[in-house]
Amino acid sequence: MEIPLVDLKAQYNSIKDEIDKAIKGVLESTSFILGTEVERFEEEFADYCEVKYAVGVGNGTDALYLALRALGIGQGDEVVTVPNSFIATAEAITLTRAKVAFVDIDPNTYNMDPEKLDDYLEKRFARSDSRITTKPKAVVPVHLYGQPADMDSILEIARKYDLKVIEDAAQAHGAKYKGRRMGTFGDAACFSFYPGKNLGAYGDGGMVVTNDDRIAEIVRKMRNHGRSKKYEHEFEGINSRLDNLQAAVLRVKLKYLDQWNKKREKNAEIYDNFLKKIGNVINPKLLKGTKSVYHLYVIKIEEREHLQEKLKNKNIATGIHYPIPLHLQPAYNYLNYKKGDFPVSEKVCNEILSLPMYPELTKDQIDYIINKIKAFYEN
Ligand SMILES: *Cc1c(COP(=O)(O)O)cnc(C)c1O
Repeated sequence: MEIPLVDLKAQYNSIKDEIDKAIKGVLESTSFILGTEVERFEEEFADYCEVKYAVGVGNGTDALYLALRALGIGQGDEVVTVPNSFIATAEAITLTRAKVAFVDIDPNTYNMDPEKLDDYLEKRFARSDSRITTKPKAVVPVHLYGQPADMDSILEIARKYDLKVIEDAAQAHGAKYKGRRMGTFGDAACFSFYPGKNLGAYGDGGMVVTNDDRIAEIVRKMRNHGRSKKYEHEFEGINSRLDNLQAAVLRVKLKYLDQWNKKREKNAEIYDNFLKKIGNVINPKLLKGTKSVYHLYVIKIEEREHLQEKLKNKNIATGIHYPIPLHLQPAYNYLNYKKGDFPVSEKVCNEILSLPMYPELTKDQIDYIINKIKAFYEN
Protein backbone atom coordinates (compact mmCIF):
# COMPACT_ATOMS: atom_id res chain seq x y z
CA MET A 1 0.00 0.00 0.00
CA GLU A 2 1.14 3.55 -0.76
CA ILE A 3 -0.49 6.43 1.10
CA PRO A 4 0.05 10.07 0.16
CA LEU A 5 -0.40 13.02 2.53
CA VAL A 6 -3.28 14.28 0.38
CA ASP A 7 -4.93 12.67 -2.65
CA LEU A 8 -6.31 15.24 -5.10
CA LYS A 9 -6.74 12.62 -7.80
CA ALA A 10 -9.16 10.58 -5.70
CA GLN A 11 -11.26 13.68 -5.15
CA TYR A 12 -11.28 14.65 -8.82
CA ASN A 13 -12.34 11.15 -9.81
CA SER A 14 -15.28 11.33 -7.43
CA ILE A 15 -16.72 14.48 -9.07
CA LYS A 16 -15.13 14.32 -12.53
CA ASP A 17 -18.29 14.70 -14.63
CA GLU A 18 -19.52 17.78 -12.79
CA ILE A 19 -16.08 19.43 -12.84
CA ASP A 20 -15.48 18.73 -16.53
CA LYS A 21 -18.89 20.16 -17.39
CA ALA A 22 -18.31 23.29 -15.31
CA ILE A 23 -14.90 23.89 -16.93
CA LYS A 24 -16.30 23.35 -20.42
CA GLY A 25 -19.04 25.87 -19.68
CA VAL A 26 -16.48 28.56 -18.86
CA LEU A 27 -14.36 27.71 -21.92
CA GLU A 28 -17.40 28.11 -24.13
CA SER A 29 -18.40 31.38 -22.48
CA THR A 30 -14.83 32.73 -22.99
CA SER A 31 -15.37 34.83 -19.90
CA PHE A 32 -12.20 34.20 -17.92
CA ILE A 33 -11.51 37.12 -15.60
CA LEU A 34 -14.06 37.67 -12.82
CA GLY A 35 -17.41 36.90 -14.58
CA THR A 36 -20.68 35.28 -13.54
CA GLU A 37 -19.17 32.14 -12.00
CA VAL A 38 -17.11 34.37 -9.70
CA GLU A 39 -20.16 36.45 -8.78
CA ARG A 40 -22.22 33.37 -7.98
CA PHE A 41 -19.42 31.74 -6.05
CA GLU A 42 -18.93 34.90 -4.01
CA GLU A 43 -22.62 34.83 -3.05
CA GLU A 44 -22.57 31.12 -2.27
CA PHE A 45 -19.39 31.32 -0.23
CA ALA A 46 -20.70 34.32 1.74
CA ASP A 47 -23.85 32.31 2.51
CA TYR A 48 -21.76 29.33 3.50
CA CYS A 49 -19.67 31.44 5.89
CA GLU A 50 -22.76 33.25 7.17
CA VAL A 51 -21.33 36.68 6.29
CA LYS A 52 -22.62 39.55 4.17
CA TYR A 53 -19.78 39.82 1.67
CA ALA A 54 -17.22 37.60 -0.01
CA VAL A 55 -14.75 39.01 -2.53
CA GLY A 56 -12.79 36.60 -4.72
CA VAL A 57 -9.09 37.34 -5.12
CA GLY A 58 -6.02 35.74 -6.67
CA ASN A 59 -4.84 33.71 -3.67
CA GLY A 60 -4.88 33.54 0.12
CA THR A 61 -1.77 35.68 0.54
CA ASP A 62 -3.37 38.51 -1.45
CA ALA A 63 -6.59 38.05 0.52
CA LEU A 64 -4.65 38.84 3.70
CA TYR A 65 -2.78 41.71 2.08
CA LEU A 66 -5.95 43.27 0.66
CA ALA A 67 -7.92 42.86 3.89
CA LEU A 68 -5.12 44.53 5.86
CA ARG A 69 -4.89 47.37 3.33
CA ALA A 70 -8.66 47.87 3.33
CA LEU A 71 -8.49 48.18 7.12
CA GLY A 72 -5.97 50.96 6.73
CA ILE A 73 -2.89 49.01 7.80
CA GLY A 74 0.39 50.28 6.37
CA GLN A 75 3.65 52.07 7.11
CA GLY A 76 4.14 52.90 10.79
CA ASP A 77 1.80 50.13 11.95
CA GLU A 78 2.62 46.87 13.60
CA VAL A 79 0.59 43.69 13.12
CA VAL A 80 0.77 40.83 15.61
CA THR A 81 0.57 37.19 14.60
CA VAL A 82 2.08 33.81 15.52
CA PRO A 83 5.42 32.20 14.61
CA ASN A 84 3.70 28.86 14.01
CA SER A 85 2.14 29.43 10.60
CA PHE A 86 2.88 29.36 6.89
CA ILE A 87 5.04 32.33 5.88
CA ALA A 88 2.17 33.91 3.90
CA THR A 89 0.59 35.15 7.13
CA ALA A 90 3.63 37.29 7.92
CA GLU A 91 4.47 38.11 4.29
CA ALA A 92 1.09 39.74 3.75
CA ILE A 93 1.73 42.02 6.73
CA THR A 94 5.13 43.09 5.40
CA LEU A 95 3.65 43.68 1.94
CA THR A 96 1.48 46.45 3.42
CA ARG A 97 4.75 48.00 4.78
CA ALA A 98 3.61 47.35 8.33
CA LYS A 99 5.97 45.58 10.74
CA VAL A 100 5.42 41.97 11.77
CA ALA A 101 5.45 41.07 15.48
CA PHE A 102 4.99 37.60 16.94
CA VAL A 103 3.47 36.22 20.13
CA ASP A 104 3.83 32.60 21.19
CA ILE A 105 1.28 29.80 20.82
CA ASP A 106 -0.68 27.68 23.26
CA PRO A 107 1.13 24.38 23.96
CA ASN A 108 -2.08 22.35 23.56
CA THR A 109 -3.83 23.83 20.54
CA TYR A 110 -0.74 25.25 18.77
CA ASN A 111 -2.76 28.40 18.04
CA MET A 112 -2.22 31.94 19.36
CA ASP A 113 -2.05 32.07 23.15
CA PRO A 114 -4.35 34.95 24.18
CA GLU A 115 -2.42 35.46 27.42
CA LYS A 116 0.80 35.98 25.49
CA LEU A 117 -0.99 38.44 23.24
CA ASP A 118 -2.30 40.37 26.24
CA ASP A 119 1.12 40.41 27.97
CA TYR A 120 2.82 41.58 24.80
CA LEU A 121 0.36 44.39 24.14
CA GLU A 122 0.40 45.53 27.74
CA LYS A 123 4.18 45.87 27.65
CA ARG A 124 4.14 47.34 24.18
CA PHE A 125 1.73 50.14 25.04
CA ALA A 126 3.39 50.86 28.39
CA ARG A 127 6.80 51.45 26.82
CA SER A 128 7.58 55.04 26.01
CA ASP A 129 10.73 54.38 24.04
CA SER A 130 11.10 57.04 21.37
CA ARG A 131 13.18 54.69 19.20
CA ILE A 132 10.06 52.58 18.65
CA THR A 133 8.20 54.19 15.83
CA THR A 134 5.54 51.61 15.08
CA LYS A 135 2.30 50.94 16.95
CA PRO A 136 0.31 47.70 17.08
CA LYS A 137 -2.81 48.21 14.97
CA ALA A 138 -4.05 44.73 14.14
CA VAL A 139 -3.83 41.10 15.13
CA VAL A 140 -3.96 38.13 12.75
CA PRO A 141 -4.94 34.92 14.54
CA VAL A 142 -4.46 31.80 12.42
CA HIS A 143 -6.90 28.88 12.61
CA LEU A 144 -4.07 26.46 12.03
CA TYR A 145 -4.68 22.89 10.86
CA GLY A 146 -8.39 23.72 10.56
CA GLN A 147 -8.67 24.35 14.28
CA PRO A 148 -10.26 27.62 15.48
CA ALA A 149 -8.15 29.99 17.54
CA ASP A 150 -9.56 31.20 20.88
CA MET A 151 -11.62 34.00 19.33
CA ASP A 152 -13.55 35.23 22.38
CA SER A 153 -10.35 35.93 24.28
CA ILE A 154 -8.55 37.38 21.26
CA LEU A 155 -11.48 39.68 20.41
CA GLU A 156 -11.69 40.90 23.98
CA ILE A 157 -7.98 41.76 24.04
CA ALA A 158 -8.20 43.39 20.60
CA ARG A 159 -11.06 45.58 21.82
CA LYS A 160 -9.09 46.59 24.89
CA TYR A 161 -6.19 47.85 22.75
CA ASP A 162 -8.30 49.01 19.82
CA LEU A 163 -6.79 46.56 17.34
CA LYS A 164 -8.36 45.34 14.11
CA VAL A 165 -8.75 41.57 13.82
CA ILE A 166 -8.12 39.72 10.57
CA GLU A 167 -8.64 35.97 10.72
CA ASP A 168 -6.28 33.82 8.69
CA ALA A 169 -8.80 31.09 7.86
CA ALA A 170 -6.77 29.66 4.97
CA GLN A 171 -6.89 26.22 6.58
CA ALA A 172 -10.32 26.45 8.21
CA HIS A 173 -13.12 26.49 5.60
CA GLY A 174 -16.22 25.46 7.54
CA ALA A 175 -14.64 25.16 10.99
CA LYS A 176 -16.77 26.40 13.89
CA TYR A 177 -16.24 28.23 17.17
CA LYS A 178 -19.21 28.13 19.55
CA GLY A 179 -21.52 27.23 16.69
CA ARG A 180 -20.38 29.96 14.33
CA ARG A 181 -18.29 29.56 11.20
CA MET A 182 -14.76 30.84 11.19
CA GLY A 183 -14.62 34.01 9.13
CA THR A 184 -17.42 35.73 11.05
CA PHE A 185 -15.41 36.86 14.07
CA GLY A 186 -12.88 39.39 12.84
CA ASP A 187 -13.26 42.66 10.93
CA ALA A 188 -12.40 40.49 7.96
CA ALA A 189 -11.28 36.93 7.33
CA CYS A 190 -9.18 35.42 4.59
CA PHE A 191 -9.38 32.10 2.84
CA SER A 192 -7.09 30.32 0.41
CA PHE A 193 -8.26 27.94 -2.32
CA TYR A 194 -4.80 26.51 -2.96
CA PRO A 195 -5.47 23.01 -4.37
CA GLY A 196 -4.55 21.14 -1.18
CA LYS A 197 -6.80 23.19 1.12
CA ASN A 198 -10.14 21.78 2.35
CA LEU A 199 -11.81 23.74 -0.43
CA GLY A 200 -9.25 23.77 -3.21
CA ALA A 201 -9.28 25.16 -6.74
CA TYR A 202 -7.34 23.76 -9.70
CA GLY A 203 -4.88 26.61 -9.44
CA ASP A 204 -4.58 29.59 -7.11
CA GLY A 205 -7.53 31.39 -5.57
CA GLY A 206 -8.52 33.24 -2.42
CA MET A 207 -11.36 35.11 -0.72
CA VAL A 208 -11.87 37.97 1.69
CA VAL A 209 -15.08 37.76 3.72
CA THR A 210 -16.53 40.51 5.90
CA ASN A 211 -19.75 41.96 7.26
CA ASP A 212 -18.43 45.48 6.71
CA ASP A 213 -19.78 47.25 3.58
CA ARG A 214 -16.79 49.55 3.33
CA ILE A 215 -14.13 46.85 3.62
CA ALA A 216 -15.91 44.75 1.00
CA GLU A 217 -16.09 47.69 -1.39
CA ILE A 218 -12.44 48.66 -0.96
CA VAL A 219 -11.20 45.09 -1.46
CA ARG A 220 -13.46 44.76 -4.51
CA LYS A 221 -11.84 47.80 -6.12
CA MET A 222 -8.34 47.17 -4.85
CA ARG A 223 -8.18 43.64 -6.32
CA ASN A 224 -8.97 45.15 -9.71
CA HIS A 225 -6.55 48.09 -10.15
CA GLY A 226 -8.58 50.43 -7.95
CA ARG A 227 -11.21 50.52 -10.68
CA SER A 228 -14.60 52.06 -10.24
CA LYS A 229 -15.38 51.91 -13.99
CA LYS A 230 -13.51 50.19 -16.81
CA TYR A 231 -10.88 52.90 -17.26
CA GLU A 232 -11.54 55.02 -14.22
CA HIS A 233 -9.27 54.32 -11.28
CA GLU A 234 -10.21 55.73 -7.91
CA PHE A 235 -6.84 54.73 -6.43
CA GLU A 236 -3.94 52.42 -7.23
CA GLY A 237 -4.78 48.83 -6.53
CA ILE A 238 -3.30 45.55 -7.69
CA ASN A 239 -4.30 42.77 -10.07
CA SER A 240 -5.54 39.95 -7.89
CA ARG A 241 -8.79 38.55 -9.21
CA LEU A 242 -10.35 35.15 -8.79
CA ASP A 243 -10.77 33.75 -12.28
CA ASN A 244 -13.98 32.34 -13.68
CA LEU A 245 -12.56 28.85 -14.30
CA GLN A 246 -11.46 28.50 -10.68
CA ALA A 247 -14.79 29.86 -9.47
CA ALA A 248 -16.66 27.29 -11.58
CA VAL A 249 -14.57 24.49 -10.05
CA LEU A 250 -15.04 25.90 -6.55
CA ARG A 251 -18.83 26.16 -7.00
CA VAL A 252 -18.99 22.45 -7.73
CA LYS A 253 -16.75 21.62 -4.78
CA LEU A 254 -18.46 23.91 -2.27
CA LYS A 255 -21.52 21.66 -2.41
CA TYR A 256 -19.40 18.81 -1.07
CA LEU A 257 -17.39 20.73 1.49
CA ASP A 258 -19.47 19.86 4.57
CA GLN A 259 -19.60 16.21 3.56
CA TRP A 260 -15.83 16.15 3.00
CA ASN A 261 -15.15 17.92 6.29
CA LYS A 262 -17.31 15.34 8.06
CA LYS A 263 -15.22 12.56 6.56
CA ARG A 264 -12.05 14.27 7.74
CA GLU A 265 -13.57 14.47 11.21
CA LYS A 266 -14.43 10.76 11.12
CA ASN A 267 -10.88 9.92 10.06
CA ALA A 268 -9.54 12.07 12.87
CA GLU A 269 -11.74 10.19 15.32
CA ILE A 270 -10.30 6.86 14.19
CA TYR A 271 -6.77 8.19 14.57
CA ASP A 272 -7.65 9.69 17.98
CA ASN A 273 -9.14 6.53 19.40
CA PHE A 274 -6.07 4.57 18.50
CA LEU A 275 -3.37 7.11 19.31
CA LYS A 276 -4.74 7.91 22.76
CA LYS A 277 -3.45 4.53 23.84
CA ILE A 278 -0.11 4.65 22.08
CA GLY A 279 3.22 5.41 23.71
CA ASN A 280 3.89 9.08 24.14
CA VAL A 281 2.00 10.29 21.08
CA ILE A 282 0.01 13.47 21.72
CA ASN A 283 -3.05 13.67 19.48
CA PRO A 284 -4.65 16.99 18.48
CA LYS A 285 -6.25 18.86 21.38
CA LEU A 286 -9.24 21.04 20.56
CA LEU A 287 -10.41 24.06 22.45
CA LYS A 288 -13.79 23.53 24.15
CA GLY A 289 -16.69 24.55 21.93
CA THR A 290 -14.74 24.34 18.68
CA LYS A 291 -15.16 22.14 15.64
CA SER A 292 -12.01 21.52 13.65
CA VAL A 293 -12.13 20.69 9.95
CA TYR A 294 -8.82 18.83 10.18
CA HIS A 295 -7.06 20.42 7.26
CA LEU A 296 -4.14 18.56 8.77
CA TYR A 297 -4.00 15.86 11.40
CA VAL A 298 -1.00 16.80 13.49
CA ILE A 299 0.42 14.66 16.27
CA LYS A 300 3.25 15.55 18.62
CA ILE A 301 5.95 13.02 19.36
CA GLU A 302 9.49 13.36 20.66
CA GLU A 303 10.93 10.74 18.30
CA ARG A 304 9.41 12.50 15.31
CA GLU A 305 12.27 11.95 12.83
CA HIS A 306 12.50 8.29 13.73
CA LEU A 307 8.77 7.65 13.24
CA GLN A 308 8.68 9.66 10.03
CA GLU A 309 11.52 7.58 8.61
CA LYS A 310 9.82 4.31 9.61
CA LEU A 311 6.54 5.37 7.99
CA LYS A 312 8.34 6.52 4.86
CA ASN A 313 9.87 3.07 4.54
CA LYS A 314 6.33 1.67 4.57
CA ASN A 315 5.24 4.10 1.82
CA ILE A 316 3.29 6.33 4.16
CA ALA A 317 3.83 10.01 3.45
CA THR A 318 3.95 12.45 6.36
CA GLY A 319 4.66 16.17 6.60
CA ILE A 320 5.85 18.81 9.06
CA HIS A 321 3.75 21.95 9.28
CA TYR A 322 5.97 23.79 9.86
CA PRO A 323 9.58 22.79 10.61
CA ILE A 324 10.99 26.29 11.22
CA PRO A 325 9.05 28.87 13.25
CA LEU A 326 8.70 32.13 11.35
CA HIS A 327 10.82 34.20 13.76
CA LEU A 328 13.80 31.92 13.03
CA GLN A 329 13.36 31.93 9.25
CA PRO A 330 16.26 33.57 7.38
CA ALA A 331 13.67 35.86 5.75
CA TYR A 332 12.99 37.42 9.16
CA ASN A 333 16.57 37.89 10.35
CA TYR A 334 15.93 41.61 10.00
CA LEU A 335 13.35 41.51 12.79
CA ASN A 336 16.16 40.53 15.21
CA TYR A 337 14.31 37.76 16.98
CA LYS A 338 16.49 35.02 18.43
CA LYS A 339 16.26 31.41 19.47
CA GLY A 340 14.41 31.16 22.77
CA ASP A 341 12.08 34.10 22.11
CA PHE A 342 9.07 31.82 21.53
CA PRO A 343 9.90 28.57 23.34
CA VAL A 344 6.52 26.91 22.82
CA SER A 345 6.58 27.40 19.04
CA GLU A 346 10.21 26.29 18.89
CA LYS A 347 9.55 23.07 20.82
CA VAL A 348 6.37 22.28 18.90
CA CYS A 349 8.11 22.74 15.54
CA ASN A 350 10.58 20.03 16.54
CA GLU A 351 7.97 17.48 17.52
CA ILE A 352 4.94 17.84 15.25
CA LEU A 353 4.13 15.38 12.50
CA SER A 354 1.24 15.53 10.02
CA LEU A 355 -0.28 12.16 9.20
CA PRO A 356 -2.15 11.51 5.91
CA MET A 357 -5.50 13.32 6.06
CA TYR A 358 -8.10 13.75 3.33
CA PRO A 359 -11.78 12.87 2.97
CA GLU A 360 -11.13 9.96 0.60
CA LEU A 361 -8.75 8.22 3.02
CA THR A 362 -10.23 4.73 3.48
CA LYS A 363 -10.63 2.71 6.65
CA ASP A 364 -8.11 0.20 5.24
CA GLN A 365 -5.59 2.94 4.66
CA ILE A 366 -5.97 4.30 8.19
CA ASP A 367 -5.70 0.79 9.62
CA TYR A 368 -2.50 0.31 7.66
CA ILE A 369 -1.06 3.56 9.05
CA ILE A 370 -2.17 2.69 12.58
CA ASN A 371 -0.60 -0.74 12.39
CA LYS A 372 2.71 0.70 11.26
CA ILE A 373 2.70 3.17 14.16
CA LYS A 374 1.90 0.33 16.52
CA ALA A 375 4.78 -1.71 15.11
CA PHE A 376 7.09 1.26 15.62
CA TYR A 377 6.31 1.18 19.34
CA GLU A 378 6.50 -2.58 19.64
CA ASN A 379 10.02 -2.77 18.29
C1 LIG B 1 -2.20 28.48 2.40
C2 LIG B 1 -2.07 29.49 3.46
C3 LIG B 1 -1.97 30.87 3.17
C4 LIG B 1 -1.75 31.41 1.81
O1 LIG B 1 -2.61 31.03 0.83
P1 LIG B 1 -2.14 31.01 -0.71
O2 LIG B 1 -3.44 30.82 -1.42
O3 LIG B 1 -1.21 29.87 -0.89
O4 LIG B 1 -1.52 32.33 -1.01
C5 LIG B 1 -1.98 31.76 4.23
N1 LIG B 1 -2.04 31.32 5.51
C6 LIG B 1 -2.11 30.02 5.82
C7 LIG B 1 -2.18 29.61 7.26
C8 LIG B 1 -2.11 29.06 4.81
O5 LIG B 1 -2.14 27.76 5.14
